[in-house]
Amino acid sequence: MTLTIDLNALATNYRIVARTVAPARVAGVVKADGYGLGAALVAGTLYGAGCRDFFVALTGEASALRPSLPVDTRLFVLNGIAPGEEAALIAADAVPVLNCPADIARWAAAARIVGQRLPAAVQVDSGMSRLGLSPGEVAALAADGAPLADLDIVLVMSHLACGDEPDAAANAAQRARFEQLAAMLPPAPRSLANSGGAFLSGAFHGDLVRPGIALYGAAPQMGRDNPMRPVVSLDARIVQWRDVPAGTGVGYGLTSVAAQDRRIATLSYGYADGWPRSLSNRGAAYVGGHRAPIAGRVSMDSICIDVTDVPGDVLAAAGHAELIGPHQTIDQVAEDAGTIAYELLTGLRHRHARRIIGVGQEGVPSCGS
Ligand SMILES: *Cc1c(COP(=O)(O)O)cnc(C)c1O
Repeated sequence: MTLTIDLNALATNYRIVARTVAPARVAGVVKADGYGLGAALVAGTLYGAGCRDFFVALTGEASALRPSLPVDTRLFVLNGIAPGEEAALIAADAVPVLNCPADIARWAAAARIVGQRLPAAVQVDSGMSRLGLSPGEVAALAADGAPLADLDIVLVMSHLACGDEPDAAANAAQRARFEQLAAMLPPAPRSLANSGGAFLSGAFHGDLVRPGIALYGAAPQMGRDNPMRPVVSLDARIVQWRDVPAGTGVGYGLTSVAAQDRRIATLSYGYADGWPRSLSNRGAAYVGGHRAPIAGRVSMDSICIDVTDVPGDVLAAAGHAELIGPHQTIDQVAEDAGTIAYELLTGLRHRHARRIIGVGQEGVPSCGS
């Protein structure tokens, strides 16, 4: 089986977002190991496409990524400062996103210890109720700016709850709330939009847009055509196939039984590789372009598919079945599995071979360059 990552498509997607939101700048969100594809690989490719701002979720992710990033980049840590992480953030030349008064106090204390102003992003909660300073906490800072005095606020940000729903009234409400709150803080560039927000009107773009999933090729908005290029394709090796008579069960629990004779092929890919077990008896693979429904439960290392409708010569020549590719997008697979492309992508494991294609390698900077 092969997970193929097309760096050309990744770089193209960056440019599509950049064109869409210009003159706003575009960061790359590479948390969760670059949505599972490899943070250094992704960041290097995005750097080659012009990206200079990167977001991870955790300090540990920043520490791991920093050595492979050129120095003319900024690396933001979304989830704030866990107690004791100050030194690691400074060592990684990372910019923490301060989400609460305790984050601000910790980072300001670190600034006093190192004797210099430290860069920080401040997040405000504009309505998602997930991360960021509450309106009351922002008002308190507006009344007494002392907690921020030792910090260099380089970004004020918030996050949209419904950026992928272009018609949601919550978007305009969050934007208005964000602008109101940001105006109470020290003047700094602003950032509100994720992938979905990038494809809302220019009023949402601010100074810096923070796409993740769109860069990786999934649809940024529901119910709209996907303007992105697919980055990931996935093929699984066909281990064997057999003809089974009517009434024969397939897989654990024998949950798939048909009234007709069938031909069943077994793929070398399973839930331990990240193929959701919720796709048991749901969804399909494609063999030589022919749809082959998943039959029975997804196992740890294998999946059975019904290849009755695949011509015998096609099956014999195929060798592999497509799980993600030209015949079914990652969004379609995610929908079949009752999840979203984000969860599917970040869940794909590295147990099998990965193939990197595209010209992105030229853009991959060497360590510390
Ligand atoms: C994950 C994340 C993003 C990227 O979101 P996508 O929907 O993948 O574009 C942007 N901003 C924040 C705060 C995030 O947590």
